[in-house]
Amino acid sequence: MTQLDPATALDALGVRCNRCGRCCRSHGGDLPASAGDLERWRNAGDAGAALLEWVMPASASVPRAGELWRDPGTGARWDAAWCPWGREHSDGRHTCTIYPLRPDACRTFPELAGQVDTICAVAGLELIGR
Ligand code: SF4
Ligand code: SF4
Repeated sequence: MTQLDPATALDALGVRCNRCGRCCRSHGGDLPASAGDLERWRNAGDAGAALLEWVMPASASVPRAGELWRDPGTGARWDAAWCPWGREHSDGRHTCTIYPLRPDACRTFPELAGQVDTICAVAGLELIGR
């Protein structure tokens, strides 16, 4: 699959993503799956079916369609902060190997719950002055 940049939402905010990968390495192992994510993957053939194998059932107390990620090899929750779909390149830049199918949480990053996430140094520096 073609590897593309992880954070065009940042571009939409008018800030240039430097592809540092901090977002995917900090939040990528513990993401919500939305109903839209599940629908997208159900309609995406084999690639989508493979991603559905990585979805854990949502906790009854949390309003989301599923939890990401579950390692289909072991059946256990993915036990790392970094996302299994991120790739670091020899020049230090990071990309997403499932970019066209990435979860909604990644599509809207660095805006989380109406706020700009401070894990993103670029957004922190340029949007909220940190
Ligand atoms: S799915 Fe892609 S964009 Fe989202 S955390 Fe994983 S590597 Fe990053
Ligand atoms: S943390 Fe921010 S600058 Fe770094 S890859 Fe993610 S969106 Fe881009």
